Amino acid sequence: MSKHAAGVDPVVEPAAAAAQVEATVAEASPAAAPALRTHDELKALAESGAAELGWDAPARDVIAWVERNFDLSSVAVACSMADAVLPALVADQMPGVDVLFLETGYHFPETYATRDEVAANLRVNVVDVLPENTVEQQDRLLGKDLFARDAAQCCALRKVAPLRRTLAGYELWFTGVRRDEAPTRTNTPLVTWDEANGLVKVNPVAAWTFDQLVQYSDDNLLPVNPLLSQGYPSIGCQPCTRKVAPGDDPRAGRWAGSDKTECGLHV
Ligand code: SF4
Repeated sequence: MSKHAAGVDPVVEPAAAAAQVEATVAEASPAAAPALRTHDELKALAESGAAELGWDAPARDVIAWVERNFDLSSVAVACSMADAVLPALVADQMPGVDVLFLETGYHFPETYATRDEVAANLRVNVVDVLPENTVEQQDRLLGKDLFARDAAQCCALRKVAPLRRTLAGYELWFTGVRRDEAPTRTNTPLVTWDEANGLVKVNPVAAWTFDQLVQYSDDNLLPVNPLLSQGYPSIGCQPCTRKVAPGDDPRAGRWAGSDKTECGLHV
């Protein structure tokens, strides 16, 4: 159980305390890593999964393939907390799955609220993936507002490295990457071997459109980040995310005014 769970107020009734613990967001713990298959074995599995599922199998079939071939404890779902569609889809077939949230320390209040809502309402275990240093420590070590001077280094320290460390404890991760999000994402496969992180990467909603995503979220009354309907179709850290005009590239508001288009997680 998480450090947060240990902090449950002792005057809370046992049932309420249990509910509070259920809704708790855990912190990433490498000690919990299960025994994993070798990279060669996993790579072969990714290749056979890609061949079996092809280019546009339904998300349900993609998740069913994962369920048949992987233990629950070896699987994680990445979630930016813009919406809860991916965690909900996976939890429907694999309840109790770990959902990784990159806790950079720079998110919008609405994003933290969505994370807490997901932890409280879905059958998932939300895990905060933390950087080595807090924002205050990073400011002391590298100067204030690194994101404004060197966004690549800031993302490398606060997103890419912590995620890589955490993914080392899993055999497979699900992402919500969609082909319609950006020109850099049009060739996203359903299943692939992620060489950079050394595990299988599965993108069950790669073929979905933004409208399909919103429809699924509405139909299933899922938690959703209110910023999505306030001009932020792609939500990242607060200092690096701007509103975009209707009809513009959904990711145009990410690192606006710079050449940067990806944080490095999916390249
Ligand atoms: S998105 Fe911005 S604030 Fe967040 S880790 Fe990257 S550079 Fe830093």
